[in-house]
Formats: sequence, C-alpha cells, structure tokens
Amino acid sequence: MSSNTSSLEEFAARKLSGLERRHLRRRLVQSENRPGMVIHRDGRELVNFCSNDYLGMTHDPSVIAASQAATQRYGAGSGASRLVTGGHPLLFELEQRLAAFKGTEDCIIFGSGYLANLAITPALAGPGDLVLVDELAHACLHSGAKLSGAEVIVFRHNDLADLEVRLATARAGARHAMILTDGVFSMDGDLAPVPGLIELAERFDAWLLVDDAHGLGVVAQGRGTAHAFSPPARAHLQMGTLSKSLGSYGGYLCASRTVCELLRTRARPLVFTTALPPATIAAALAALELVETSPERCGRPVELARRFAHQCGLAEPASPIVPVIIGDEAEALAASQSLQSAGFLVTAIRPPTVPRGTARLRITFSATHQDSDVDALARTVAPMLHTLEAAS
Ligand SMILES: *Cc1c(COP(=O)(O)O)cnc(C)c1O
Repeated sequence: MSSNTSSLEEFAARKLSGLERRHLRRRLVQSENRPGMVIHRDGRELVNFCSNDYLGMTHDPSVIAASQAATQRYGAGSGASRLVTGGHPLLFELEQRLAAFKGTEDCIIFGSGYLANLAITPALAGPGDLVLVDELAHACLHSGAKLSGAEVIVFRHNDLADLEVRLATARAGARHAMILTDGVFSMDGDLAPVPGLIELAERFDAWLLVDDAHGLGVVAQGRGTAHAFSPPARAHLQMGTLSKSLGSYGGYLCASRTVCELLRTRARPLVFTTALPPATIAAALAALELVETSPERCGRPVELARRFAHQCGLAEPASPIVPVIIGDEAEALAASQSLQSAGFLVTAIRPPTVPRGTARLRITFSATHQDSDVDALARTVAPMLHTLEAAS
C-alpha cells in the first residue's frame, strides 16, 4: 500500500468513528418492497411507514405492465444523452402530459429530482445574482444555489416577513434574483405560503421555484401544492419528481417554453448525462394517467395521515408526512428500533437531513396502507408521545 492510500484509509476510519460516536453514522440495509406497503428486511416483514411511494404506484399492475412493454419494445437503456440519441418519443409525450397537468407551456424531464435542482438554478443564476432559499428546503435546492455561484441567502422557514426584509436589503445590488422553496417540506410535511411568495417575487422582480416533490399526486386530490390555494398559486418554475407518488424515477421542470428551451441548451445535468431508460418513462406515464383519473386514490394518503394524527392528538397534517420530533439522535434511533420490534418500519431522520436537536421519526402514509395498519401504528406511537411530553 502506498503512503498515499494509507492516509486515505486513516482519514476515512477517523471520520467514520467520529460519526459513530455522535450517532450520525448511517447504514445501508437490504430492503425488499412488496405490494401493500410491506417491506422485507432482516428476515422479517414490516409495514412500511417511511416510503414516498404515496400511491402504491411501484406495484400497480398497469404501471408494471407499461414498464415491461417499453423494455420489450425499446430495450433496457437509452444509449446516450437526450441531445445525442437519447431523445426517446416517450420522453416528449411525458413532457407534454406533465405540462398540460401543471398548466404550463412546456416541461423538461431530468435524470432525477436531485439532478433537476442541480440543473435549474445554475442555468438561470450566476455571479452577480441573488438566490434566496428557505432554511428547510431540500438539500438539492441548497446545492443548486451554491453551485450557481450567485450570492446565497437563507431565509427563515416559511417566514414571509424575513424574506421581505432580505429582499429589501439585497435585491437592488443584484442583477437577477431567485427564491427557492419546497411546496411540501419533505421532513415536516407543512406547505409553503405560495401566494405570499408569488406576491414578494413579483414585487421584487424575483423568479420563484417551487419544488413539489411531495405535492404532486397527493396534495389537493393529486393536483399538487399550487392547488391547495384558491385561486391556484402557480410559481414561474414548478419542479418535482417522478420517483415519489408516480412510483418511478426522474425529475421534471414545468415552466414557459422559452425557459425550458434555455435549459435544454444550458443545463449541464441534462446535457452531460444519459437519458432515462424507456421503462422508467413509460411507468411514469402510466402512473400520471392514474393520478389524473383517480382523485380518490390521491386523496387517501392525506386522509390516513389525518386519521393517525387525530388518534395521536397531533396537529392536523396538510400532507401525507407526519413528523414526530424527538430531538436527540440516539433517542430517535431507539424509538425507530422499538417501532421495528412492533412490526413497523419508520426510520429515524437525523442531521444533516434535519437541523441539530430535531432528530425525528418521519411517518408517511400511502393509499395502499390498510386502515387497520394505521390504527395499529397509532396505538404504538401514542404512548411514546406521552413519554416524550412527560420528559419535556
Ligand atoms: C426527494 C426530493 C428531491 C429529489 O428527488 P429525486 O427524484 O429523489 O432525486 C428533491 N426535492 C425534494 C423536496 C425531495 O423531497
């Protein structure tokens, strides 16, 4: 082993043991998802309460059939970037369908939601510009902001007054400004105040990007966060993912034709990566069709989240995500372990995914959960909440 390699080994081992000591080391566990929100792990079947497959689309017979047919017909991979020969007709069809669904002129599909956010902000903003990001926005929005080279300001979570002060101070010195937020916050389940954000964006000439990864398919009978408001509050830039409620993989941006055209030419994570495989796109198309035609299915995850929250005496959720904040990392891990012993999978969420001191159980509900599963989970979690309250 060269000395170079041994310093690398030493560095990695030291980092890992530090993370272990602070209960921040993460481990990959083999997990096999089965229909009906059942997960096979460690030789056991558990009811999965931490999946983002909110509508059970990954196991939907019509989604599976569409994906199989596309593989048979078009092959397993796409062969190249979309700008070379990876521009499969199914991609264009999905883009048109998503744009129509979101009420925009155009749409672009990316390799994942994460890649979409690494693409959008750096293609639209750079040095001399200003990007304001909600402090609890998803990691990839923060990464996209940093990657752009613009000045980045983090504003207080869902705090329009704080955002306004920061715009009033910094906007004039910048050429362009962008505001980035989740529509549904991924670790808290609350909604962004989109109409207020649109108003500020217009007043200060800023471009608003709303990441609706957890809104599409589940909020407002599936139509997404924009439709949780009346009239619907549509941001200039509406991005999201194909990998949560649509049960497939990939990301998208719905926006004007001109903005989408610019991104097709300039967005590095679109230009320099291979297009999604045909099966993945066909699956997303089939799932989108189901979202458009089954508002009841789309409404069920939030209904179940409310049923659970009511039984546990928690505030009424606006999305299928219900956080149970524990605080300490080791205690969050222990709570997750005790739920696992009771037959439920709810992984503990720790920093840096959430701020320090807010380690939590993040419970998510799916249309394919049984009412009885939800009630059983509530009977297990409610006593844990009493213990937490007593301790605080
Ligand atoms: C999951 C998630 C993403 C990333 O999407 P992928 O398709 O999984 O890469 C982006 N933004 C938010 C808010 C998310 O929750």
